[in-house]
Amino acid sequence: MRFLILSDIHANLTALQTSLAESEGKWDKVVCLGDIVGYGPDPNEVIDRVRALGAVTIRGNHDKVGSGLESAEDFNPVARAAAMWTREQLRPENREYLETLPLGPLSIDGFSLVHGALRDEDEYVVAPAQALESLLEAPSQVTFFGHTHLQGGFSLGPDNAIAALRLRPANGEKFTKLEIKKGTNYLLNPGSVGQPRDGDPRAAFAIADVAHSEVDFWRVPYEVESVQQRMEKAGLPEPLILRLSFGR
Ligand code: ZN
Repeated sequence: MRFLILSDIHANLTALQTSLAESEGKWDKVVCLGDIVGYGPDPNEVIDRVRALGAVTIRGNHDKVGSGLESAEDFNPVARAAAMWTREQLRPENREYLETLPLGPLSIDGFSLVHGALRDEDEYVVAPAQALESLLEAPSQVTFFGHTHLQGGFSLGPDNAIAALRLRPANGEKFTKLEIKKGTNYLLNPGSVGQPRDGDPRAAFAIADVAHSEVDFWRVPYEVESVQQRMEKAGLPEPLILRLSFGR
C-alpha cells in the first residue's frame, strides 16, 4: 500500500491541488498530519478536498485554534489574525470536522502519525536531541511528523547514533528517495504543502511504501501568485502573503 503523506496544508488550495495532480496514480490512500487550516485563504475548500480524499487525519495546533477548540493567546499577532479570520469563514460542518479530529499519535498500516512530537503535539522537533524521545518511544519503526514545515527528518541506528536526514529534492528534481533500513528508526517530515519554511517555496509532500521500505520526498512548484491574490482580497496579514514567495 502506497500512502500520500500530507502535512501543514494551511488552507492553500492551489498548493494542494498541484500536489494531488503531480502525485496522481502514485498512491492508494492519503494521510494528513494536521494544520489543514490557518494562514491561507481557502479553509473550507481545503477541508472539503481533504474530506473527499478520505484522508486519515490527525489535528494540528491551527486546527484547534481555527475551530475554536483552543484560544489563540499563544499565537503571534499575525497567526492570531489569520486564525480569527479562519473562524469567521468556516462552515459549521467544517468547524465540527476540525473540532473532532483525533489527537496523534495514530498508528496506521505499520507506521505512526504525529503533528509535533510523539508525546506533545505542539512541540517543534527541529534538532536531533529533540527527536530522540520520539525515535526511542515510537510504537513503529517509521513515524511521520509535521508542524515545523521543514522537509527532512531524523534516524536512530542500531549503534544508537542519531542522524539528521537531508531529504529535499534539488531544484529541478521532483523527488528524492529514502530507503528504510532494518534496525533503524525514523522520524520523517514530508514538509508543508501550503507554507514551506525551508527556503524552498515549492509545495512539499511524501509518498510512502513502508512495506517496501521506500519513502519518496517530493517538491512541486505551484502558482504562488494566485494564492497571494486571494490572501490580499481576504485582508490576511501581509507577512503571511510575502513569505509564500520565499518559502520562509
Ligand atoms: Zn503548521
